[in-house]
Amino acid sequence: MGKKCIVCDAEATYKIKDTSDYYCQECAQENFADLSLLVKVEEEAQRLKTFVEQKAQRSNASSASKAEPSTEKDLEDDA
Ligand SMILES: [Zn+2]
Repeated sequence: MGKKCIVCDAEATYKIKDTSDYYCQECAQENFADLSLLVKVEEEAQRLKTFVEQKAQRSNASSASKAEPSTEKDLEDDA
């Protein structure tokens, strides 16, 4: 399995953020001077996997924005 480059049909290495467009390394570099717009397919898959795993346990993630509901009720109940 694996994604195909939408330009040349080679095996895709990169994916554009927030889209379903996949590119191989060559086409990615040709079309995007700034590769930071792209995410590596492998990393994306790994990141999702890690994200799910962390979420299952408990996450102190780096840059994901998530609101953790805090139950401060417990703190008041110390008498
Ligand atoms: Zn390509």
